[in-house]
Amino acid sequence: MSQARFASCIPLPIEHKALVNVIEKARDWGLMHGVAMRDKKHFNKDVIQVAPFVLLPSPFPKTEFEKAVELQPILNELMHKVAHNDEFLEHTLQNALQVDEFTKSLYDIWVKVRNEGITQSVSLGLFRSDYLMQNTESNKIKQVEFNTVASSFGAMTSYLPTMSRYILRQLGHPDLIKNMPENKALSGLCSGITDAYDLFGVPSAVILFVVEEVSYNICDQRFHEFEIAEKRPDIMIHRKTLNEIFEETTLNDKKQLILDGRPVAVVYYRSGYEPAQYPSQREWDARLRVERSTAIKCPSIQYQLAGTKKVQQALASPGVLEKFMGSGPSTSRVRDIFTGLYSLDFDENGERAVEMGLKDAEKFVLKPQREGGGHNVYGAEVREALQRMRHSRERAAYILMERILPPLVQGYVIRPGATMPPPVVDLVSELGIFGVIIGTSEKIFHNRQVGHMLRTKLADADEGGVAAGLGALDSPYLV
Ligand code: ADP
Ligand code: MG
Ligand code: MG
Repeated sequence: MSQARFASCIPLPIEHKALVNVIEKARDWGLMHGVAMRDKKHFNKDVIQVAPFVLLPSPFPKTEFEKAVELQPILNELMHKVAHNDEFLEHTLQNALQVDEFTKSLYDIWVKVRNEGITQSVSLGLFRSDYLMQNTESNKIKQVEFNTVASSFGAMTSYLPTMSRYILRQLGHPDLIKNMPENKALSGLCSGITDAYDLFGVPSAVILFVVEEVSYNICDQRFHEFEIAEKRPDIMIHRKTLNEIFEETTLNDKKQLILDGRPVAVVYYRSGYEPAQYPSQREWDARLRVERSTAIKCPSIQYQLAGTKKVQQALASPGVLEKFMGSGPSTSRVRDIFTGLYSLDFDENGERAVEMGLKDAEKFVLKPQREGGGHNVYGAEVREALQRMRHSRERAAYILMERILPPLVQGYVIRPGATMPPPVVDLVSELGIFGVIIGTSEKIFHNRQVGHMLRTKLADADEGGVAAGLGALDSPYLV
């Protein structure tokens, strides 16, 4: 099927000399403002290099952008309700749990802490809802997924509009700048963390970031820390791996999580969302200790479970949204951003989905209950995987999703180490909208949309994770 195209924000190609010149400036701008990452191949803690970025902001329809922004608080609340509906989560995840050990481990912790009695009823969500435009539906946005854990790139992409404006000015197009929306994701996300801290209400308490053994995406994480340090010099922030948490924290008799003699008010997970981040029982024990504590978790374990692909699929089933949201106009607006999502359970619907996937493999994506990119199955491999799993219980760990076919736009991708100047290539963009929510099962204290991110990849790439080395940072140019 041929894909529709958007015109790039300025005519391409850019003349050779001007292109080389502006890329040079843009790379330095990015590097010097922390639009940067650590190199995975040649790791050196002291070295960062510019993160992959697209030179020109990619066009995005204004109405669809605004729709996504408006929907964010509605989606935040929906996910908050889902996370607090024990029966729904249990029922929805039931089959996947039997074959997915990782989700099962998270689930078991959730059950255990519930049975012991909840010590902290407040959850903090720093969410990101992701969208691709669907070319076959007049470029309307369709939700790719809803992230409830370690939603990244809010910090770095907050700098992207300024970088794109600088580039446009250097290229002699200052008139275009007005089409680029402000992005306050960094301060918005950090305000969520500090609001939760204030709710905790213990002046000597600290904030704990849970991090990987090696953080490649260090700028994105540190910016949060520096932002909070700047605005709230009274708050101490620690960065610890799960293994360090195992070794260095204790629970006191009030179930406070104690680190360096002080209670932890907020635990912000930037790690802990995939199996490799729990190499031994120690990491799981550390996770359990945190979940047992009074610290406000971002996300709480029920938020993390609510962010699974299986839940996303269940929400798209007939009548389910209505159960959570009633049947007003908001419900139809949410339904409108869903694309085909199908369960692969062993029942009539599951069998039908398997048939569909086998017949038209290219029209679907097969997704397991994983985060962080690189886990999905595409194209002919969908058929192979469905054939292999057809009679195996393993298939219940996956969902089948209609493949979204986004419109194309031409542009330049700038990567560290790539030959310069790069060629003009076909690209597609994925929009993410950030949301903050803080509340208990009874009451929501804060609920807001706080910013966005745009991530762009080569049109023929299946996935576009920036940290995974496939996508490039971008900012929307509203058309
Ligand atoms: P993860 O939680 O690992 O990020 P996603 O659901 O976001 O999982 O999938 C990863 C990437 O795969 C997305 O960023 C997008 O590029 C691509 N993708 C996922 N679902 C679809 C879909 N239905 N149609 C087209 N591309 C998709
Ligand atoms: Mg995700
Ligand atoms: Mg994703």
